[in-house]
Amino acid sequence: MTSTVETSPPNAITPADLPESLVRGLRGAVHGPGTAAFDRIRTLHNAMIDRSPGVIVECAGPGDIRDVLLWASTENQPVAVRAGGHNVAGNALNDGGLVLDVSSMQGAHVDPERRVVRVQPGVTWGGFDRETQAFALATTGGNISSTGVAGLTLGGGIGWLMRRFGLTCDSLAGADVLTPDGRFVRAGDDGDPELLWALRGGGGNFGVVTAFDFALHPFDHECVTGVAIHPFEAAADLAGFVAREAAQRPTS
Ligand SMILES: Cc1cc2nc3c(=O)[nH]c(=O)nc-3n(C[C@H](O)[C@H](O)[C@H](O)COP(=O)(O)OP(=O)(O)OC[C@H]3O[C@@H](n4cnc5c(N)ncnc54)[C@H](O)[C@@H]3O)c2cc1C
Repeated sequence: MTSTVETSPPNAITPADLPESLVRGLRGAVHGPGTAAFDRIRTLHNAMIDRSPGVIVECAGPGDIRDVLLWASTENQPVAVRAGGHNVAGNALNDGGLVLDVSSMQGAHVDPERRVVRVQPGVTWGGFDRETQAFALATTGGNISSTGVAGLTLGGGIGWLMRRFGLTCDSLAGADVLTPDGRFVRAGDDGDPELLWALRGGGGNFGVVTAFDFALHPFDHECVTGVAIHPFEAAADLAGFVAREAAQRPTS
């Protein structure tokens, strides 16, 4: 389990380094080492990761993200973005730098007529399914409900429904992006289509996504899913069984 951190690493940025005018304008909160909120946010799914940023800004919306990015790029400060915190390598954090925590940005708006949903980057797949299933709509999400929509989609995304609806990123229709220097860019056919192409698997390397727009698909029945693990010696028999069974199953 991640331990409590009382002080920043040497040369780390501290909350006192942020200009008062910047902090005053934020709707979210600034956390430094020694606080419960700091330790909660820097605790990731992979408990082997024990990174200690200098400052965590818990962003309440795109305005907070933009202002912090602008300041960080002017001051040449390293920035990491934390959403669901499931990245195994711990890329959501850094040591001694700024972390933009977007996990409390939980907005989700379904338009059942157009079959689209717009979600903020802190939404997890459990939250996503909760809102879309209310309208018998779905897209391919992660196998585990606590994984973040943000990181999974930007990495491509595989899940239970992929044989029917493709990868998660195949249903990503557009995104709002703030570039590292705080510029807003719309990714998609209604903006920059090349950027949307890059976001579909390119990870968090092109800026901070502040909203994801997904196409949804009708899905109004329950399905049984799971993972079955068999001994290695059964591999040959199992391969034959899967081939025979799969040939008889519907493809849509
Ligand atoms: C238990 C578990 C189950 C998983 N199951 C699946 C699965 O079924 N299918 C699958 O495809 N993958 C799965 N994964 C892998 C998972 O999709 C990736 O680790 C993904 O990066 C997690 O996203 P996150 O938002 O939770 O993580 P984070 O660690 O918060 O973020 C992941 C990366 O995305 C960047 N990022 C986060 N938010 C933004 C943003 N708004 N803008 C730009 N960059 C951003 C972060 O900086 C970081 O580099 C699983 C991982 C775990 C630990």
